[in-house]
Formats: sequence, C-alpha cells, structure tokens
Amino acid sequence: MIYPRVALIGLGLIASSMAHAMRAGGLTGEIVGYARSAETRAVARELFCDRVCDTAAEAVRDADLVVLAVPVGAMGEIAAEIGPHLKPGATVTDVGSVKQAVVDAVAPHMPAAVHFIPGHPLAGTEYSGPRSGFATLFQNRWWLLTPSAGTDPEALARLRSLLEAMGANVEDMDVAHHDLVLAVVSHVPHAIAYTMVGVADHMRRVSQQEVIKYSASGFRDFTRIAASDPVMWRDVFLTNKEAVLDILGRFAEELFVLQRAIRMGDGEHLHAYFTRTRAIRRGIIEAGQDTAAPDFGRSAPPAKEG
Ligand code: NAP
Repeated sequence: MIYPRVALIGLGLIASSMAHAMRAGGLTGEIVGYARSAETRAVARELFCDRVCDTAAEAVRDADLVVLAVPVGAMGEIAAEIGPHLKPGATVTDVGSVKQAVVDAVAPHMPAAVHFIPGHPLAGTEYSGPRSGFATLFQNRWWLLTPSAGTDPEALARLRSLLEAMGANVEDMDVAHHDLVLAVVSHVPHAIAYTMVGVADHMRRVSQQEVIKYSASGFRDFTRIAASDPVMWRDVFLTNKEAVLDILGRFAEELFVLQRAIRMGDGEHLHAYFTRTRAIRRGIIEAGQDTAAPDFGRSAPPAKEG
C-alpha cells in the first residue's frame, strides 16, 4: 500500500480510472471522493469510492494524497477551499491538462507543510463522467510531473511509485515546457478537429447524410476528437492561450505553404512533405503509443492524449 488514504476531488473519467487502478493494484487503504453534483457522488459511491463526502474540505481531511481532478478552471476555487483542511505532510497533485495556470491557481493556497506536485496523465478518451473510467487507462501512457526545485524528493518518489504501479511511464518536465509540448501534441490538434467538424457542419453542399455515410475517409477521427468534453476543452484553451496561439500561428503558415503547393501543382513538394509526416506516424507506433490497426486500435479501450 503506497498511501493509506487517497482523496479524489472531481470524480470523472480520470479520477474514476485512478480509483479502479488503485483498487486493482491494492495501492491504497481507503479512497474518499468528492464531486459537485449529488448524482456523480451517488455513482462514485456505488462504483469506486469507499466513502463520498458532501464537501471537498471534508473529503481531504486526514488524506495522505489528494488528487485534484476537476476542469482546469475550477482548480483554484477547490484549492482555496481545501487548503486549511489538509494534513501536514500530505501530498497534493492534480491531473490538469495545462500546468502553469494550475500552479498559479493552486500553489498560493497550499500550506508550507504540504507537498504540491503538479501532474498530467497523457491518457484519456472522449468520454467523461464517473461511469467512464477503467483500470487500464494509464497502462503504458505517459504521466508528466512538474515538480519545482524545492519539491521534497521523498514525496516525489512516493507519488511516482503510485503512478508507475498504475502502469504509467513517469517523467519530470518544466512547467512552461509542458504547456508548449502539449499545445503541439494535444491542444492544437483538438482545435483543428473542432474546426474541421465545424466546417463540415457549415457545408450546406454536403448533406448531413453524406458526411456520416462516408466518414471513414478520415473525418471520423476528427469527430471522435471533437466529441471531447466541452468544459474541459474550453478551460484548456482559455488557460494555455500563449502556447496554443504560437502553435496555431505556425500551423497556419504550414497550411499556406501546402495550399500554395496544391495551387501550383507542386507534386514534388507534396510527396516530400507527406513522406516526412508518414515517418512521424511510424515513430509513434514504434514507441507503443498507438497501433497500426486500420481503425487506429480504437475498437479496443479507446485511448487518446488529453
Ligand atoms: P470529467 O469526466 O468531466 O469529470 C470532471 C469532474 O469534476 C466531475 O466529477 C465534476 O463533477 C467535477 N467538477 C467540475 N467542475 C467542478 C467544480 N467547479 N467544482 C467541483 N467539482 C467540479 O473530467 P476528466 O476527463 O476526468 O478531467 C478532469 C481533469 O483531468 C481536467 O482538468 C482535465 O484537463 C484533465 N485531463 C483530462 C483528460 C481527458 O482526456 N479526459 C486527460 C488528461 C487530463 P460533476 O460530475 O458533479 O459535475
């Protein structure tokens, strides 16, 4: 057992998957939970929490590890509420998809005797809520931690051992670097998927039926990504604004170059460009982050970065 008592604040996809994984591995003695709505709390009580509280302050009492698993925009409010109730020596981590905004919102509320170690599992699906979690979500997925220079090495090692026991590959990263890397590999791809689905939606010439009927031609994967939780993604774009705008600017430049090559009939350029991008895809499969199955392995437990 790594932590005798774990408190999960927010009981959606990530928290419920953590609970299932911790239970399967016997990694904690007690899982206590809190979520905003009575409905979510009831489902969590039934499916994966030993105890569910009516307030976040009550849930964190005497917890050895507290996990903040709410949308990024709600982290500060929760931190302010739980700060005075945290046990000295406890570790607080979060799973937010953006790190600088979470550090800015949470750190000021953390008492000196508490170890705050921000984190982000690069694992998720387009489903949300307390029924969507499963124990293997983090298997062979990255879990990035962004400790600071003053982070207690023992607290860090303990948190790392929990995440590794849930199947994750853990790596430390600088906060600002995390936000830039995630803008490239996750946030901007989501922005593009949302936009592409929006384009199809506005195209009166392509009937709704045709879009659905022929969606396997590439559009289907965009719709899967664009089905992700609207609150979570609203908060990601509002809080990782600078990095996302930087990468979107670069994307627009690349798109113009591609547009020009198509207009000019520059087949050589297109072939060389697509050969390079194909090699990147091969690298992802070789790194075990996706499968080469024609449906991108998505008939198995769905996995995508978040
Ligand atoms: P989710 O399934 O939508 O669950 C969110 C949970 O937070 C729900 O239990 C919700 O309670 C609670 N909540 C929302 N607003 C709240 C507030 N203001 N105060 C208290 N509780 C509140 O979300 P998730 O996918 O697990 O995401 C949680 C965090 O993980 C987010 O920060 C997200 O950026 C990050 N993340 C997500 C993914 C992904 O792919 N989904 C991947 C990596 C990291 P109710 O149910 O009662 O509304």
